[in-house]
Amino acid sequence: MSGGTATRVQIPFVDLRVQHRELHDEIGRAVSRILDDTSFVLGSDVAAFESEFATYLASGDGAIHAIGVASGLDALHLALVALGIGRGDEVIVPAHTFAASALGVRASGATIVLADCDPHTMLLNVEGVKRALTPRTRAILPVHLYGRVCEMDPILALARERGLRVVEDAAQAHGARLAGRAAGTFGDAGCFSFYPSKNLGACGDAGMIVTRDPKTAEAVKRLRNYGQSVKYHHDVSGTNSRLDSIQAAILRIKLRHLDAWNERRRVLAARYDRALEGLPIERPAPAPPASHVHHLYVVRVPERDRVRDALLEQGIETGVHYPKPIHFHGAFSDLGYREGSFVESERAAREIVSLPLYPEMPDEWVDDVASTLRRILR
Ligand SMILES: *Cc1c(COP(=O)(O)O)cnc(C)c1O
Repeated sequence: MSGGTATRVQIPFVDLRVQHRELHDEIGRAVSRILDDTSFVLGSDVAAFESEFATYLASGDGAIHAIGVASGLDALHLALVALGIGRGDEVIVPAHTFAASALGVRASGATIVLADCDPHTMLLNVEGVKRALTPRTRAILPVHLYGRVCEMDPILALARERGLRVVEDAAQAHGARLAGRAAGTFGDAGCFSFYPSKNLGACGDAGMIVTRDPKTAEAVKRLRNYGQSVKYHHDVSGTNSRLDSIQAAILRIKLRHLDAWNERRRVLAARYDRALEGLPIERPAPAPPASHVHHLYVVRVPERDRVRDALLEQGIETGVHYPKPIHFHGAFSDLGYREGSFVESERAAREIVSLPLYPEMPDEWVDDVASTLRRILR
């Protein structure tokens, strides 16, 4: 973690080593079992993890189907294709999100239409969606960014009224619940990433699509495996986006810890909230308790880059999620937006900084970050 002649990092932004040290032996046994039985792709651990994750998300109002795929990006792509969305269709995506939210739409062949974010939560809201609607709109893609569930009721009501599909990007919100419902289970499909640093992370790439509709589930199962329903019978032109057994086995072990890890994230976030009180810092907007799993703890500060540099000088790593709204990336210049198109998303990208937060981080580090910020901002 030391950066050559630069200051040694005393508080890393994230450190995955602690978690894996604790689970090392259990993971080792699972991997060794799979080496012996050699069902490396879509084996029994994949089916078991799919079923356990579906049960974890269920809330007693109907079964959830879960289909493992190779990544969060693939989950978005294949969920849209399974729902029949593609060329000529428009999908509304927040301008303030990780690029994969938009790239998933592009992979489906549909057109990306951006919407500005809420000034307080920085999430997609129904007002933004309404401004982005056109006669070609076919779907809305709410992103539960930072681990906080979007305000879903008005978005779902609008979708019902207009006959639109809702595909949730829940890649940062494993286990977040709003009024008892889990992120990913509100709309027609929910998409998860198990990239290593997510709240539930594999030891490599992995993803999941969840849906209440058995037909959508079957369609995704075909698409992830070359469009086959029966081996060597290719009904539709699919792709290879299969989850492998080793990742699934590791995720089964980790799923059992997810609620405790999310609770620990909440404790640390609450500690930051108190410790940062009175500073010229905008803390995360208050959220219903279970609805936020604090994948990231994001504040807004004046002179963000100066503050980040000063923190790093004191050995504290931070992140920016994300430094550019979608329409500022070269990859999306063809969408035809310009500076000023989405002022709240642009302001967020200028002001935000993500402070260190992961379940194994000691309480005192929160206090250290807060007191360092207090000195810097004085
Ligand atoms: C991580 C992430 C993704 C993409 O997931 P991958 O598994 O990396 O493909 C998509 N959307 C959001 C919001 C993410 O944070």
